[in-house]
Amino acid sequence: MIETRQELAEEYSSALQQYLTGAGEVALQRAYELGRRAIADGLGVLEMAAIHQDSLAAARLSSMPPEERVQALERAATFFAESLSPFEMALRGFQEANRALRKNLEELWRTEDELRRQNEELTGARQTLEAERRRYQDLFDFAPDGYLATDPEGNIQEANRAAGTLLAVPPQNLVGASLPGFVSDKDRPAFQAQLNRLRGKNEKKAQELQVEMRSRTGVSFPALLSLRVVREASSRPVGLRWLLRDITERKRIEEDRAHFLVRELVARTEAEAGRRFAFLAEASALLVASLDCETTLANVARLVTTYMADWCSVYLVEQEGLLRRVALAHADPARADLARQLQSCQPFNSRVWQELGDTLGQGQPVLVPQVSDDWLESIASDPEHFRLVRQAGLLSMIIVPLHAHGRTLGAIALATAESGRRYDQHDVALAEDLARRCALAVETAQLYHAVTLERDKVAKASRAKDEFLAILGHELRNPLTPILGWVRRLKRQGLIMQDSVLKEGVVSLERNTLNILRLVDDCLDLVRISERKIRLEKERMDLNQVVEAAVEAIREKAQSKGLQLTLQPAPGSLWVLGDRARLEQVAINVLTNAVKYTVGGFISIRCSQIGKEAEIEFQDTGIGIAPEFLEQIFEPFRQGTNEWLRSESGLGLGLAIAREIVQMHEGRIWAQSPGPGQGSSFRLSLPLAGEQAEVPGPGLQVWEAPPTTSALRVLLIEDSKDIVELMRIELEALGYTVLTARDGEQGLEMARREVPDVIVSDIKMPGMDGYELLRRLREIPELASIPAIALTGLGMKEHMAAAAAAGYQSQVAKPVDAQELSVIIQKLVVG
Ligand code: ADP
Repeated sequence: MIETRQELAEEYSSALQQYLTGAGEVALQRAYELGRRAIADGLGVLEMAAIHQDSLAAARLSSMPPEERVQALERAATFFAESLSPFEMALRGFQEANRALRKNLEELWRTEDELRRQNEELTGARQTLEAERRRYQDLFDFAPDGYLATDPEGNIQEANRAAGTLLAVPPQNLVGASLPGFVSDKDRPAFQAQLNRLRGKNEKKAQELQVEMRSRTGVSFPALLSLRVVREASSRPVGLRWLLRDITERKRIEEDRAHFLVRELVARTEAEAGRRFAFLAEASALLVASLDCETTLANVARLVTTYMADWCSVYLVEQEGLLRRVALAHADPARADLARQLQSCQPFNSRVWQELGDTLGQGQPVLVPQVSDDWLESIASDPEHFRLVRQAGLLSMIIVPLHAHGRTLGAIALATAESGRRYDQHDVALAEDLARRCALAVETAQLYHAVTLERDKVAKASRAKDEFLAILGHELRNPLTPILGWVRRLKRQGLIMQDSVLKEGVVSLERNTLNILRLVDDCLDLVRISERKIRLEKERMDLNQVVEAAVEAIREKAQSKGLQLTLQPAPGSLWVLGDRARLEQVAINVLTNAVKYTVGGFISIRCSQIGKEAEIEFQDTGIGIAPEFLEQIFEPFRQGTNEWLRSESGLGLGLAIAREIVQMHEGRIWAQSPGPGQGSSFRLSLPLAGEQAEVPGPGLQVWEAPPTTSALRVLLIEDSKDIVELMRIELEALGYTVLTARDGEQGLEMARREVPDVIVSDIKMPGMDGYELLRRLREIPELASIPAIALTGLGMKEHMAAAAAAGYQSQVAKPVDAQELSVIIQKLVVG
């Protein structure tokens, strides 16, 4: 049973096809029925027509002969038309048209809605666009930066307020003005050139120009101009857009910033320089603290490790050119053990030192910014050294030479490790500065060492000279003692003095003996002075008198040379505190020279008071003194000439002794001369003694007549037969009983036997010397307290001390004057 409209339609189609393919009228009838039922059931006319048309197509009519086919189709059409009544046709067509119309209407409505919606959207967009435009206009107008639109030549077409304000022209009045006209005269040519270039180039990016601009009112300001070229499609420039900004403030800030940065840099540099300065100052202080070179360098190495290195070694070149490590310091205390091991290694292998030495030898530093194993291996002295330096973990290294006055004295090696610091040229400069100071210190220490050695040698030589002089003095005084003694005795013999030849001989003998004695005394004086052994017997005295005595002493000599001698004492007394004999000695030395170095002229002596000083001037018209000798004539053994052989000059001791004595009196003595051949003058100045100056007791009155004495028994022990004989005669003449012995043993024996009142003994004797003798005497109870006087020709400090230590109460220098000896004996025995 056919149930649905669709099924009916399909049946209809099938029946129609059957009919068309020859099934006959029955099939057609059936199709007719089915078609009607389908339409009655509501199948649309147009749908029915479509089904009909499809059935015709499906019936494969092409296989039929043409006439049959045409007929079949005509029948089918008729049949289809008949199957539908006209009313139904109309009704159905209307309904269907209606439906189509409604469908179209709905479509129209939808389109209208869509249009309305699009219209609304468009209105919204327009409003937004307008709001945007207004916003941009505001922005344009109220933007803080100036905005300008110009043509490619720079003629302003549009300007905002800010531009107007900057250029001091209302924006609307700017239109038509030339932008380059607002650029300062100095920048305009460059600005114009830049403008031309930009126009030519197909540059898309914005450009920036900095120029000085000048507003209409003449105010100049630095401006930053950002510029963009607007081009048409063909890339021809059609306009320029400018952003104009006053960068006065920015410039000020930049300048401030630059100043700040400079100040900061300066401060940082200053701080760094300060640290460096402090470091170098500390190093310098260490370097000058001691002349012990190695200790000093060790201290410096330690200082270096607190400032710029983890390891620091200092090497010195030994005499054979070898290198010796004198200091090794490290910053990390935990590395002490490693440092100890490194200390025991050779510093570098010799080849490396030679290579480095070539560089260092020219005073050049070596910088190794990054230490490599290869490098370490190349410098290590042996595999063990390499192992240790590798263990130290060295990172960066500087080796600087210790270079002074063209000599490489050693080197300093600085290395970093755990600190991670890497050296650069700044560090090299600092290390070089340090090395320069170290080199100078090393050089100074080495020089000092050499000078000390030299000084020790000189001191030793000087001591040897003093000893020699002392011995010479002793050896000369010994024979002089009897000569002078006998000469004087002979002088007292009337018979001799009545014979003119003998008298002449004795006087000459005495004069020359005294000359030798003076030389010997000068030598001994010098030794005593250098040993600070002279003791002044000071008294308050009138210097006029001292000078008068000295003048008298040389008057005869001066006259014998035909010299005119004048003395002009000071109007009043010239009180000074001094040793009369020593000051007289000074005056005699100077006057003796004046007589010696003047031939047929004048010698004048003038005493005066100058301020708080007494001054004596000795002037002569003699040979004069060249300026270069004026000072050195006061040094021992120095003469005022280089031609000693052809001169009158002697040993050169008189003035040296004079100056020493004067200085011991806090005075001065100096020489003046216009030059050779023009005479000389010597000035001696001494401080005047105050009114209340303490007047010490009179000095040792050696020439005073001895007190009368009972026959004291003197034991004289002396190995020189001549001296013994002479002294015996002289002492006996003074009333003493003289016992004599020729050596220590004899003396001891005699003393034991005779127990004398006083013992006078030589020191230097063969067999038993005077010290030994006295020690032995003192061991004998009855002889222990007998006063003993040493006879000495040496006069040296150690001999005096030794004599005192041996038990002598006093001593007398040879040649001994019997009266002088007598005074001492009296003091010791009588008290
Ligand atoms: P000496 O006279 O034994 O050489 P001095 O120490 O007394 O030693 O003098 C040192 C030198 O000073 C003398 O050698 C002499 O050249 C020079 N001199 C000293 N006094 C005079 C003087 N009045 N005129 C010229 N030269 C003098």
